[in-house]
Amino acid sequence: MQAGWAAISALARRLRRIVGRDGLLRTPSELAVYECDGYTLERYRPDLVVFPRSTAEVVEIVRLCRQYRVPVLARGAGTSLAGGCTPVGGGVLVCLTRMNRILEIDRRNRMAVVEPGVLNVQLARALEGTGLHFAPDPSSQTASTLGGNVATNAGGPHTLKYGVTGNHVLGLEVVLADGSVRQLGPALDAPGYDLLGLLVGSEGTLAILTKLWLRLTPNPQDYRTLRAVFARIENACNAISDIIGQGIIPAAMELMDQGILAAVEEAYHFGFPLDAEAVVIIEVDGLSADLDDQLARIVQICQRWQARQILHAASAEERTYLWKCRKMAVGAVGRLSPSYCIQDGVVPRTQLPRIMRRIAEIARECRIRIVNVAHAGDGNIHPILLFDQDNPEEVRRVLAASYQVLQACLDCGGSITAEHGIGIEKLPLMPRQFRPADLEVMWRVRQALDPEGLLAPGKVLPNNIFVHQPGHAASGQPGQTDLAPSSQTSPDQPARPSPALPANTPLGPPSWPSPDQPTQTSVQAHPPAGSALGQQFSLYHRGGAP
Ligand SMILES: Cc1cc2nc3c(=O)[nH]c(=O)nc-3n(C[C@H](O)[C@H](O)[C@H](O)COP(=O)(O)OP(=O)(O)OC[C@H]3O[C@@H](n4cnc5c(N)ncnc54)[C@H](O)[C@@H]3O)c2cc1C
Repeated sequence: MQAGWAAISALARRLRRIVGRDGLLRTPSELAVYECDGYTLERYRPDLVVFPRSTAEVVEIVRLCRQYRVPVLARGAGTSLAGGCTPVGGGVLVCLTRMNRILEIDRRNRMAVVEPGVLNVQLARALEGTGLHFAPDPSSQTASTLGGNVATNAGGPHTLKYGVTGNHVLGLEVVLADGSVRQLGPALDAPGYDLLGLLVGSEGTLAILTKLWLRLTPNPQDYRTLRAVFARIENACNAISDIIGQGIIPAAMELMDQGILAAVEEAYHFGFPLDAEAVVIIEVDGLSADLDDQLARIVQICQRWQARQILHAASAEERTYLWKCRKMAVGAVGRLSPSYCIQDGVVPRTQLPRIMRRIAEIARECRIRIVNVAHAGDGNIHPILLFDQDNPEEVRRVLAASYQVLQACLDCGGSITAEHGIGIEKLPLMPRQFRPADLEVMWRVRQALDPEGLLAPGKVLPNNIFVHQPGHAASGQPGQTDLAPSSQTSPDQPARPSPALPANTPLGPPSWPSPDQPTQTSVQAHPPAGSALGQQFSLYHRGGAP
């Protein structure tokens, strides 16, 4: 069943009436920008992209899409690294970037009220001079939206001490799949079920977030920041565990390995020793009187683990400089290869040496160069896999290596995502992380809020309708299966529509494979069988391999 040209055109006309002429995109060249997010290995083209300016407009959009049975997917800045806003099922992409007003900064209640499209850094700047800050600081903070941060429960260098985004959300206004608006909080200690906790990190699958009440944290009185250079990465990892083991909770402990140091050095000439296996940036903050003692203990621990150089930031400028080294690391990777895939997993901190060893082995086995940054204090690892996206064989090896890295995290007692979320990328590993009964509970929760499967189908939990095909590319890429190749479509013609959600779709949970059964994974060479909905999509494969 197809939504069809006529239906999409009618939908576009009616959406344009809601968001205005400049609030809707529909030609292939416009839509091409929205085929993927920061996870570029898979691409699907949305049917339409809309830019609402208010909650009322979001409500109208959702109601209309429901009427047409077209999937709806929220998008912030599109910096997701897990394909969270890749429109697997086509449909309407709702970009919240025009809802970008800071509505209130309430200093007495230490709370900010913002629209979801406000950038994290925009709030940080607005808070300058107030003595308060919003603690979650993802490395993407200059680009990512607060709505996206809440929807992914983002972490960041300083969430080691202050907690991830979920710890800083006091209330949410949301639009549910039936187009109704609900407000949860703001409340400090809300009795009853923790619905706020449910929506944080739900990646657009349960609701669209339209207003956020965020907790503000007093700025620390003072900081101490240092950079420790280690000849061996294993020693760096052990020093990190020992610091926490000694009862010190630094504000941040960030690790960069030799590969990433070389890239940063080549790009910015910070003066890193290129023969060192790892550099750790450690920051403590709090009351000045306490900090020198903490710092002395940290230095002692680093020396015990044979740090070969320890540099203190003696001024605010030097501190900014040290953080610049870390924050510019990912940007420098562009010098190493034409494409890269930033992985995201987490292990118990004490397992850091083991996972780093395993990542090095996987890199050798899969013949993929991997460099590493890590929010190491939390055990969060971010191996960056370097490759050339135009080389399909290399893409396959990157997918295989990614899968193995995440499996290794599970083997270490960790998780398949530290902070980037499941999106589409990690979908195949969900049955490895969770037991079938646990997945089914999640499914029931999702169905309770979105019985028709309108919101973000094919994300986070596989449903019976839309499942991504590994390596799918919407245009001109390896694995292309798009029904409307760009060569056959003029840039100004509307894009070919995706299938509508069939009426009375059985959206019940698939029968989950047991953790020991083989699952459909991104590393399998063969794509899953085609579905009744058309070649473009494939049914989730019950019980594993097709
Ligand atoms: C260089 C770089 C560094 C990064 N560093 C970090 C890091 O340190 N920590 C970290 O956690 N992540 C990091 N990320 C990943 C990414 O920036 C975060 O996941 C971020 O929170 C996404 O925000 P966004 O506005 O780009 O959301 P998008 O990418 O647009 O969307 C992400 C997900 O949230 C959903 N969503 C977005 N807005 C809404 C809304 N209003 N309502 C409902 N659902 C919504 C989308 O459907 C999607 O599932 C990094 C990414 C890059 C490129």
